[in-house]
Amino acid sequence: MKIAVPAEVDLGEPRVAATPDTVKRLVALGAQVAVEAGAGVKSGILDADYEAVGATIAPSGADVVAGADVVLKVRRPTEAELSSYKRGALVLAIMDPYGNDAALAAMANAGVASFAMELMPRITRAQVMDVLSSQANIAGYRAVIDAAAEFNRALPQMMTAAGTVPAARVFVMGAGVAGLQAIATARRLGAIVTATDVRPAAKEQVASLGAKFVAVEDEEFKQAETAAGYAKPMSAEYQAKQAALVADHIKKQDIVITTALIPGRPAPKLISAAMVASMKPGSVIVDLAVERGGNVEGAIPGQVVQVGGVKIVGHLNVPGRAAASTSPLYAKNLFNFLETMVDKQAKALAVKWDDELVKATLLTRDGAVVHPNFAPKNP
Ligand code: NAD
Repeated sequence: MKIAVPAEVDLGEPRVAATPDTVKRLVALGAQVAVEAGAGVKSGILDADYEAVGATIAPSGADVVAGADVVLKVRRPTEAELSSYKRGALVLAIMDPYGNDAALAAMANAGVASFAMELMPRITRAQVMDVLSSQANIAGYRAVIDAAAEFNRALPQMMTAAGTVPAARVFVMGAGVAGLQAIATARRLGAIVTATDVRPAAKEQVASLGAKFVAVEDEEFKQAETAAGYAKPMSAEYQAKQAALVADHIKKQDIVITTALIPGRPAPKLISAAMVASMKPGSVIVDLAVERGGNVEGAIPGQVVQVGGVKIVGHLNVPGRAAASTSPLYAKNLFNFLETMVDKQAKALAVKWDDELVKATLLTRDGAVVHPNFAPKNP
């Protein structure tokens, strides 16, 4: 069982798919692990750290993946990378499958069995493999830190001999994994925090973190959660009512963090240009959904833009901005999933193709796109 950990080819991706801890566990399962030189350096991991737990270091990505039965990655492999993969290899990564048919076809043509970690079901058994949660949690934290760094005032109230500095007001839109961590982080920094979401279950979670919930709580709101625990797209009527409430609230905020997503769809637009214009000079908005279309009008992926007196922060790959924290969690998620595909007696791969976690995440196999949501439709 040969396992490869290439460096990420995308220069905007500092994370790595294995750590010395997970390599040690893989070696204990009977694997030979090869890591590309320098793969962990942006996450604070040296080649020598991998070698110390039994990995071999190879000079290039092509060398690392040659003959590998499993390739562990952060991002979906490019066509150029795939050209060095063995047919039949298992590839685990964040695959970003929606709207990327050509990339899925390339993986199918390469004959690899590709698994999209972000499609892992949100069930108890799979919590330890949930990359969306492990990465969003740190992203929510980092969004507040990024906002605080752009903000020209202090967040906590401070009573000094020279006068009182008022606490900043932080509004978090979308109280999922990232949003809840943003609330907790802003509270720890002493801000007065409010939050909104369309899922009724979020109300109690927001309150339990000491923040106030702000939302239109009508009949539609009460039905707004899918069986999988995600938000449903809301009607135009609901969005208009919610926008009016938010418009009034946002004027009084210093920092807004938006995290609202709907799986497989563009992010809902929650903040209009008029709302941005209504905010006080010096206010900061962080759009964590910017890569998925953005929650904020005027947010630009990869940039911090000044719109009137307001800064809109649109950093890309926010989990990567804390790579030394996110890489170990991501690597552990991958290990936990891969472990379910190993026969520990035989010390060999034994994928249970009928397992619900495998079926939910498997995109391509034996030359075809096999996932029901992404397989080409019959004419
Ligand atoms: P997500 O990243 O898909 O979306 C972020 C948040 O945006 C969600 O809370 C969503 O309701 C909200 N949102 C969507 N449209 C909105 C709008 N128009 N206005 C305001 N908010 C909007 O969500 P997530 O962080 O992945 O979490 C989704 C759910 O899954 C949550 O209930 C979370 O607690 C749950 N979860 C369960 C498990 C598990 O294993 N059981 C693990 C992780 C998360």
